[in-house]
Amino acid sequence: MEYPVMNSLHSRTVELLGSLIEFDTTSRESNLHLINFVRDYLVAKGVSCELIFNQEKSKANLLATLGPQVEGGIMLSGHTDVVPVTGQQWHYPPFQLTSEQGRHYGRGTADMKGFIACMLALVAQVDQARLQRPLWLALSYDEEVGCLGVHGLLDELAQRPVKPELCLVGEPTSMQPVNGHKGKVALRCQIVGHECHSAYTPQGVNAINYAAQLIHFILKRDERLAEEVNPAFDPPFSTLHIGTITGGGALNIVPNHCQFDMELRYLPQHSPDTVIDDIKAYANHTLVPQMQQRFSGSAIAFNTLAAYPALYVAQSEPWVQRLLKWTQQTATTTVAFGTEAGLFHQQGITTVVCGPGSMAQGHKPDEYIEDAQIEQCLQLLVKMVETLYVTAQTE
Ligand SMILES: [Zn+2]
Repeated sequence: MEYPVMNSLHSRTVELLGSLIEFDTTSRESNLHLINFVRDYLVAKGVSCELIFNQEKSKANLLATLGPQVEGGIMLSGHTDVVPVTGQQWHYPPFQLTSEQGRHYGRGTADMKGFIACMLALVAQVDQARLQRPLWLALSYDEEVGCLGVHGLLDELAQRPVKPELCLVGEPTSMQPVNGHKGKVALRCQIVGHECHSAYTPQGVNAINYAAQLIHFILKRDERLAEEVNPAFDPPFSTLHIGTITGGGALNIVPNHCQFDMELRYLPQHSPDTVIDDIKAYANHTLVPQMQQRFSGSAIAFNTLAAYPALYVAQSEPWVQRLLKWTQQTATTTVAFGTEAGLFHQQGITTVVCGPGSMAQGHKPDEYIEDAQIEQCLQLLVKMVETLYVTAQTE
């Protein structure tokens, strides 16, 4: 396929993608080699940027602005981490870009270094002196493990005197503007009972039995969630799910410990607290008193492992309408997977998810992105930057 208009921008993007893929930024690894590469690249283009480190200084977010430091403008946002390749059968080297017949293979090509490469290639072509409103760039870490890293960046953003008007989160949506996704709360539940010989079960407090009762309550609560439907989502209701469970040590001992991990994926119109509070209330007011009647040290504890809010932006929002026009789409869509978009939206920034590549390829072996997707993304980004060359009033 030929791309006469954007040839150089396109080839620069693929070159940058090659560099980004070579940094193994699996969430458990440091992302600093990639962040330093991006910082050096941006500084060479005259862009000042700020790194926001984690406590151990092993990972960092990056926040950069081009143009005047005034209210408004557009933020392009992406996460730098990728999911592991462990246990996956790859036919291409995951951390080296292979380009074949209009596809570029490598871990993170779709999710979401392809978008970051587009963003960086674009910077080289922005006429910074013409910008009337700022172009913001935001890169985070630890998105894949529950949107953990971006909070430092959000805190920094909250302290800035000015904010962008629109945030585009470039997760792979095949360039379809996405105005909604579910929120998530992941919890670990630990049940402490009382151990004894299994011939004398009434003397013990069986932690597995109480876990079973609590899980039964959660499943009943899940059935009620399915009654409230929002057809924009798939599945069209909020869901509860138990993912892991461990407990007990030997059959002839009443187990004093059981632990399970659960998650709630909720529709934007729902508050997660009502569901989580119901579960905690059943544990604390029904189960724990029964357990403590036999052993006062019995307990049920909940710890939040990860949480991010749902996203919902009305399709009638002017920025959403513009994005639909620019991407030549007629309607927005929703996605099943979570993103950082809900967190940016909570800061009062209109946030839409739209990026190149498909989640059908994300997280899988032989992940790839197509040239056509890169091209569509670059065309959108170029149109977005053009709006920043005029003031909001003259737009
Ligand atoms: Zn992603």
